[in-house]
Amino acid sequence: MTVAVCLNCGQMKSGAWTACPSCGYQPCGAEELAKALLVSDNCIARDKLEEFAARRQQGEPWNFSPELLERFTQQVAAMIPLTPDGHPAPMEGGAPEQPPPQAPPT
Ligand SMILES: [Zn+2]
Repeated sequence: MTVAVCLNCGQMKSGAWTACPSCGYQPCGAEELAKALLVSDNCIARDKLEEFAARRQQGEPWNFSPELLERFTQQVAAMIPLTPDGHPAPMEGGAPEQPPPQAPPT
């Protein structure tokens, strides 16, 4: 099960792209989906995520590397079909639950 930090409020939640149970925020559009993956345990160790979550909850802004985010956004855009409102489209035959691209090496 994927564990991720809510981009909006910093709560830990399960699933990078699920709606946040605390604030209701759900990433939409390739860039937000990419950011959501970057703060999930697909990309970052769990203990580091908890540190990010704590800092976010104290009001610290996210600080994504622009190049990394751009590359990742392109990967998401290329690999994940999106509905017109920017959410991952359900795929025929049942999509894997979280089909994220691998984080590029940094
Ligand atoms: Zn939230």
